[in-house]
Amino acid sequence: MLTYEQARRTVIDRVAKAKGPRATANIRVWDALGFVLVEEVKTDREYPPFDRSTRDGYAVRAAEVVPGATLPCTAEIKAGDTVTLSLVPGACVQIMTGAAVPPGADAVVMIEHTNRDGDSVRFDRAAQPGQNIVPRASEVKRGEVILTPGMRLGYAELALAAQVGATQLRCANKPRIAILSTGDEVIAIDQEPGAFQIRNSNSISLAAQVRLAGGEPVLLGNAADRIDDLREKIARGLREDALVLSGGVSMGKYDLVETVLKDLGAEFYFDAVAIRPGKPAVFGTCGNAFVFGLPGNPVSTMVTFELFVVPAIDLLSGAAARNLPFVEARLGAALNEKPGLAHFLPARVEWRGAAPEVKALPWQGSGDIAALARANCFLVVAADRGQVNVGETMPILLRKDVL
Ligand code: AMP
Ligand code: MG
Repeated sequence: MLTYEQARRTVIDRVAKAKGPRATANIRVWDALGFVLVEEVKTDREYPPFDRSTRDGYAVRAAEVVPGATLPCTAEIKAGDTVTLSLVPGACVQIMTGAAVPPGADAVVMIEHTNRDGDSVRFDRAAQPGQNIVPRASEVKRGEVILTPGMRLGYAELALAAQVGATQLRCANKPRIAILSTGDEVIAIDQEPGAFQIRNSNSISLAAQVRLAGGEPVLLGNAADRIDDLREKIARGLREDALVLSGGVSMGKYDLVETVLKDLGAEFYFDAVAIRPGKPAVFGTCGNAFVFGLPGNPVSTMVTFELFVVPAIDLLSGAAARNLPFVEARLGAALNEKPGLAHFLPARVEWRGAAPEVKALPWQGSGDIAALARANCFLVVAADRGQVNVGETMPILLRKDVL
């Protein structure tokens, strides 16, 4: 049985190898959040486009400003003003944040360090050349490449594109990820459940996780634990870039997902991982699609998606597989887990003191969505650890969707 690191590596290697050229599209910068760029973006202008004042105050010649100096001021420059005149020697100009510093001036003195009396400004302290000025072209040069293929577009990347006039961005199409829940007991969420039925919450969490990872969910509903129904719906899912199934991969008599996939010609790269929750997770290819058979217990489904499906979506989007968002925290309450499997426990991390502190939350095991909805991270207990004492440093996997 693979460790989760080995299983993740297997996914990354397989998807990276199989990845062909992806269809691309021009996406409006307004709509491009979470897309992956396939082209370089170059600047259409230098930035800042002029020597920019970073403060409200007075533009001066630094050498003329000694403590107690007084200079006449009869002009002002607002942000957006066209600046043509130079600062004459022995004077200063009132200037606003974001305005262009006039030729001749080499420093801006904050208004807080001055006293104004009519047209005369007194300075409290000396000025240094360059202070409170961002020189023209110091952030980016004209024609410089500022965004590169493979970058995922977050809010800063989009703002940068907007700053340099790139209103359309050439991006990879989002990979289409089919989602199929399985189970005779599972009903659609808008139906009234019978006493022994449960609502299909996994399709909801999976669709949300696909979107957060940068994929486009394709919802296929639920298949009964019957060969014919599974076969038909799985075959439909195999038309997409990847198919993610929930349920039907354990050892039960009606866990038929692997059997059906095998009949359809699947090749499996793993069918168990040394983790709890999530041990029965399956990964392979079938036809042209990657297939993930995730266990149906909701927390198992969520954990195994984060560990194994997210890096596949990254690669299918044209990006590198991102790292797991691990950080370290001080353990706030002792642990006593059965060793042998790596545990991913719903937990809360708080940043009250110097170091983050984490505590596992009480839970009923891998079906307990309510516990996970109170958690903001998973506390990860390595397979060779059972007991862990208060105060030890532990790895935690952040829930980036809520933190
Ligand atoms: P399985 O992996 O099929 O053995 O299912 C394990 C547990 O997860 C069972 O208690 C199922 O009822 C539950 N389960 C399976 N599919 C879903 C789903 N789509 N939504 C919520 N719970 C599910
Ligand atoms: Mg089932």
